[in-house]
Amino acid sequence: MNKDIATPVRTKEILKKYGFAFKKSLGQNFLIDPNILRNIVSHAGLSEKTGVIEIGPGIGALTEHIARSAGKVVAFEIDGRLLPVLEDTLSPYDNVTIIHQDILETNLAIVMTEHFADYEDVVVVANLPYYVTTPIIMKFLLGKVPVSGMVIMMQKEVADRITALPGTKAYGSLSIAIQYYMDAEVAMIVPKTVFMPQPNVESAVLHLTRKETAPAQVIDEDFLFEVSRGSFVQRRKTILNNLQSSLPDGKAKKELILNAFERIGMDPGRRGETLTIEEFAKLSNALYDDFF
Ligand code: SAM
Repeated sequence: MNKDIATPVRTKEILKKYGFAFKKSLGQNFLIDPNILRNIVSHAGLSEKTGVIEIGPGIGALTEHIARSAGKVVAFEIDGRLLPVLEDTLSPYDNVTIIHQDILETNLAIVMTEHFADYEDVVVVANLPYYVTTPIIMKFLLGKVPVSGMVIMMQKEVADRITALPGTKAYGSLSIAIQYYMDAEVAMIVPKTVFMPQPNVESAVLHLTRKETAPAQVIDEDFLFEVSRGSFVQRRKTILNNLQSSLPDGKAKKELILNAFERIGMDPGRRGETLTIEEFAKLSNALYDDFF
């Protein structure tokens, strides 16, 4: 087996060879601990039959661990300076394709058909750039990209919000948007010391697994998310107050909103953080006809 990229010595060697300077604005914190990488990959449950999408391969630290276990890896890197580095560091692996592209500008449906038509199982494995964690996850979920799971490193605080349950401080519209599609659990907490350079925040690896069935029947998913986002605009306010200010013409439609609450037997004086996804679904279904 080749020597790991993810050791402090080898990483420093590679960075020196290419005169590479980190760009903070691109969330460049590279992993330098092979044990963490092995752990991430073990959570992804990879086999020869698995295709993997990686976001931000950096100098290839995680990519090589994925390549050793998966059938194929397609990795998207926004920073052109890393392409010659990756060509060099990943040369021992013939199942890796690097694409120089911003993942947020990528047509993922085309990626799935062009690269993964022969794979029945495709997962996302990544140490995400922290400045765009949520937009990246939501691009996969809202775009209905058929990946079965995601094992992704992110800021611990974001992982806590994603996995939060009703009645907790961290619970909010992000918990609802992601838990609507995926089962979410924190696989491990990761100290700052395993990165180069060290980030200012604690990190966590989040394991998302696609739900077999949606937790609730909704008329319009976008409207469910609009209602849940709107209900948390001011956490201390009641849902009624929040929805009046956040929904279009909400103030003028106060009676209609109250009517919807009454029809489903829900107290409009509750706060957003007390509602389950199923309750938000019921509420958004009841409000739907009044806003469309
Ligand atoms: N995977 C490497 C590792 O674990 O050592 C690097 C992870 S580093 C946290 C994030 C990587 O994502 C960087 O290489 C950065 O250049 C890249 N990146 C940042 N924004 C991106 C985007 N929008 N699309 C694709 N890659 C991006």
